[in-house]
Amino acid sequence: MQVLNEQEVAQNVQTILEQVNQAAINAGRNPQEVRVMAVTKTVDPLLVNAAIAQGITLLGENKAQELCAKYDSYHKDGVDIHFIGHLQTNKVRQVVDKVSMIESVDSIKLAKEIEKQCAAIDKVMEVLIEVNIGKEENKTGAMPEEVLPLLKEISKFQHVRVKGLMTIPPVCENKEELSQYFSRMSELFIDIKQKKYDNISMEILSMGMSGDYKIAIGHGSTIVRIGTAMFGQRNYKRS
Ligand SMILES: *Cc1c(COP(=O)(O)O)cnc(C)c1O
Repeated sequence: MQVLNEQEVAQNVQTILEQVNQAAINAGRNPQEVRVMAVTKTVDPLLVNAAIAQGITLLGENKAQELCAKYDSYHKDGVDIHFIGHLQTNKVRQVVDKVSMIESVDSIKLAKEIEKQCAAIDKVMEVLIEVNIGKEENKTGAMPEEVLPLLKEISKFQHVRVKGLMTIPPVCENKEELSQYFSRMSELFIDIKQKKYDNISMEILSMGMSGDYKIAIGHGSTIVRIGTAMFGQRNYKRS
């Protein structure tokens, strides 16, 4: 399994930033509307810092334990950290002081726990609702029809602010099929945004990963979450 060095990561970051820029222009969008997140799971903090040195200002963390272990090693000046993985309620307390956003909220139970833990540290947490846009069984995320009721419940909380939506679409055979999921997300996003609900702002649409970020940008994504294209193939250790 190949592990990249700092120079290779730096080069990848430059390439990705250029391609994101170009994809936004091709879509007739302002490139500044699209933020590139470095997804850090299993990646050595040394390489994460190499990406930060190239201008990355947003990290995405999947696991509470890994976040806590690596947190102090990151060069965090001017850098935001978002939680993007499935979050168990008993781990919420460990992450709320370290991240500025939780992108993976998909239940009222989780939102309640975030409210409770953030009230305790007097913080308002920004969140995205994770949507299971492909309605896949055994997958995290709220079903599309559950999104609005969930948003309305969460909007009553004092320490949680909804900022938008996130999704991980199903694995697709082709570009057309994938485009349909991104476009459904974009419709849901725009629909909720236009209804202007109290305490619900729809500013962030987090979708697109290494293999499909250009397509996602074409469908209005404002955060693309990139792991493999930046840091190379992940080497999952058995534990
Ligand atoms: C791993 C991960 C990514 C990045 O995936 P790549 O294909 O490696 O770019 C994005 N979002 C989430 C939620 C992830 O877990």
